[in-house]
Amino acid sequence: MLSRDQMTGIASNQQCDTYAWFSQRAWVEIDLEALSHNVKQLKQLLLPRTQLMAVVKADAYGHGAVTVAQTALQSGASWLGVATVPEGIQLREAGIQAPILILGATQTPEQIHAIAHWKLQPTLCSPKQALIFSNILEAINYASPVSVHIKLDTGMSRLGTNWQAAAEFVQLVERLPHLTIASVYSHLATADSPDPAIMAEQHSRFKTAIAQIQKIGIKIPSLHLANTAATLADSQLHYDMVRVGLGVYGLAPAPHLQHKINLKPVLQVKARVTQVKTIAAGTGVSYGHQFVADREMRIAVVAIGYADGVPRNLSNKMQVLLRGQRVPQIGAITMDQLMIDISQLPEIQEGEIVTLLGDQGKEQITADDWAAQLNTISWEILCGFKHRLPRVGVI
Ligand SMILES: *Cc1c(COP(=O)(O)O)cnc(C)c1O
Repeated sequence: MLSRDQMTGIASNQQCDTYAWFSQRAWVEIDLEALSHNVKQLKQLLLPRTQLMAVVKADAYGHGAVTVAQTALQSGASWLGVATVPEGIQLREAGIQAPILILGATQTPEQIHAIAHWKLQPTLCSPKQALIFSNILEAINYASPVSVHIKLDTGMSRLGTNWQAAAEFVQLVERLPHLTIASVYSHLATADSPDPAIMAEQHSRFKTAIAQIQKIGIKIPSLHLANTAATLADSQLHYDMVRVGLGVYGLAPAPHLQHKINLKPVLQVKARVTQVKTIAAGTGVSYGHQFVADREMRIAVVAIGYADGVPRNLSNKMQVLLRGQRVPQIGAITMDQLMIDISQLPEIQEGEIVTLLGDQGKEQITADDWAAQLNTISWEILCGFKHRLPRVGVI
């Protein structure tokens, strides 16, 4: 991630400095103050004893894992969640010492060695996986026990042991050498739905599983179930920890949950105007000439395209912000560039900054807007921005 200083020339709108033009044609801005605000708002929803895990998998939903993790930990999060072993190692190599839960499946010897070495905490989803862990740690004669998290499938049908076999599974892991159970958890499939029925069923299965584990006399230090949606929907679901991704990044999982909290979007996507021109009526724009000017038009070329993560399916549908106004995108979005109609702003200069996601003046375009246009979810939009776009921290 570049600092604001390294990005000098990008922030000032009219500057046509060569470095900024060519090396920073387009970028992602990360508002660390908004991130910190979101974490604090989320923490306020919780009882003091309930921990907040910031889920920073997939490079913190495209925001940059190390910076997000550091800011989240400074703002009230005490755990981090990642999907893979390399994601966990990246955080450790940056000097982060907070507990890190790997939410995905792991079981190769290389993964297990790395988990032990870097003090990461794996999710255990089956008796077979638990045995593999224990055997491999035994083989390398690993001295201190590895903290593991028992995953129950209560209705997501993704990772986890069936909730009805919870007690048996926990008992097996408890008896295995080299493993210590740090938590039991499950994941909800419909927490963002306005209809709570399926979530209630999953919650009831979770409670039953916990009761059965208690019945055999095993004490579990921590229980957790809630993602962002469940955290906002019902404090009964908070237990000892909540695992929050989307909310940390400032988006509500569903419109009916928006009013529960004041969140600020963290990520903005910006790019430069690289050429402006006037085209005559009847002129086609971009590949396939899907757009043909019906009048003389002023257009601008913007240095960002689908190889940066602007979905090509937004061609001729999306708008961008320029000088605080909404401006329509025209023609097919190409790999590295796209065109916009600036007939309403004919004085636009080359080098000016276009906001694709984010706000300018009173106007705002969010990942939710793109998700609605593309019939997908904001999570996918955020994860879609490529590494070609530098991440710039803004404080
Ligand atoms: C990704 C993930 C989360 C976070 O989900 P959000 O909806 O982004 O809050 C929580 N728990 C698990 C197991 C996950 O995989």
